[in-house]
Amino acid sequence: MIFYHPDCDLRFSQYGIEIPIEDDRAAKVFDFLQRLNPQLTFASLDLYPPLTRQQLMLVHDKTYVDKLFGNVEQLEKAFLVSYELQDINGNYHRYNPATRKNDFFHARNIILQQASLTFFSSKKSLETGFSYFLGGGMHHAMSFGGRGFCLINDIVIAVKLLQKEKLIKNVWVVDVDVHKGDGTAELTHNDPSITTLSIHMKNGWPLNSGNPNDPWFIPSTIDIGIEKGQEAQYLDQLKNALLTCEKQYPKADLVIIVNGADPYEFDELESSSELNLTKEQLLERDKFIYQFFNDRKIPQSYVMAGGYGKKSWEIYAQFLEFVGQSSPEWSKISSR
Ligand SMILES: [Zn+2]
Repeated sequence: MIFYHPDCDLRFSQYGIEIPIEDDRAAKVFDFLQRLNPQLTFASLDLYPPLTRQQLMLVHDKTYVDKLFGNVEQLEKAFLVSYELQDINGNYHRYNPATRKNDFFHARNIILQQASLTFFSSKKSLETGFSYFLGGGMHHAMSFGGRGFCLINDIVIAVKLLQKEKLIKNVWVVDVDVHKGDGTAELTHNDPSITTLSIHMKNGWPLNSGNPNDPWFIPSTIDIGIEKGQEAQYLDQLKNALLTCEKQYPKADLVIIVNGADPYEFDELESSSELNLTKEQLLERDKFIYQFFNDRKIPQSYVMAGGYGKKSWEIYAQFLEFVGQSSPEWSKISSR
């Protein structure tokens, strides 16, 4: 099942944020899928209420959650930090409030809606075996605050909510975004029910602060760092890591795949340039993951995570086209 609604797309320029991100990638993927399957419709958002303050507190500190639900100045501060909109001298960086059309309450509500869809999409995968939310994947948000364009950690919140409902016990989070899933690692490192695997650039953000005591260095259950120029070994390393997870950690009742497209060679974000996989390599990656969990009958729930520039939508689209072709259930794949 695919989850998408255009009201969940966060369009940065509306808030005066000048990060060079093509914010229509989810819409492009949805249009592509709708051409393949005209039955595909938008999700009915009234079925999926935005996350609440109490739900956020399952993973985030009260002080931080209070800021997110505080006044406009407190909320702006949280966005300035999470989206890196200030330089070290406190001047605005990639942020021009004069051009904004909506305030940060509007942006926050979209993010709470997105996080709700991550939860409901994951819940649906427990019935259908596969679900894909065209959004979410905010894996850098930590217990104490947002960072790396991630305000809240929708992935860990979804896991905790499903555990609270006693629908699942053990979960794997397989994070193939080009950046380490540091927020997810920080939020789960004391919880043996959540096994985290992150395969990412060995060097560069977020591992370039130079201080190994920084919380972004808290290890995932398994971290695979790929050096620049080692792209040919990427797939084997991923396969080995999944087999190690299977041997050494509790069997998953659910896997959430943080399906970043930013390892793509044509990704336009500067901080993702250390790892450059081709379109074909990324399709191999995604097909391998899909088949690995399909063979083991483990429900799989996907979120988009990073993917920047004009071509990133193609990576999601080619994978979902493959899923559609390989699944006899394709005609039932719909966002309702
Ligand atoms: Zn990323």
